[in-house]
Amino acid sequence: MESVEEKRSFTEANSLKVDRARCIVCGACTAVCPAEALVLFGLKLELIKEKCISCGLSEKVCTTGALTCPVGK
Ligand code: SF4
Ligand code: SF4
Repeated sequence: MESVEEKRSFTEANSLKVDRARCIVCGACTAVCPAEALVLFGLKLELIKEKCISCGLSEKVCTTGALTCPVGK
């Protein structure tokens, strides 16, 4: 059986990356995410990594290049 550590490293390697310096907190990505993995807290975008299914939708709608999805393209 897969250990917790193995699962964690797999998730990290395939996880969406958020570049906060580029994010203008427009909310477009939170609106399209089917997994509710992106949430706006005031002026900060939070990614709930455990929920992200790496579908790539959020990266497609982000106009500032703040999101990078390693899979789902
Ligand atoms: S890659 Fe898909 S599941 Fe993950 S945050 Fe973006 S829209 Fe949501
Ligand atoms: S779509 Fe891009 S700029 Fe808009 S909130 Fe999401 S990451 Fe930030």
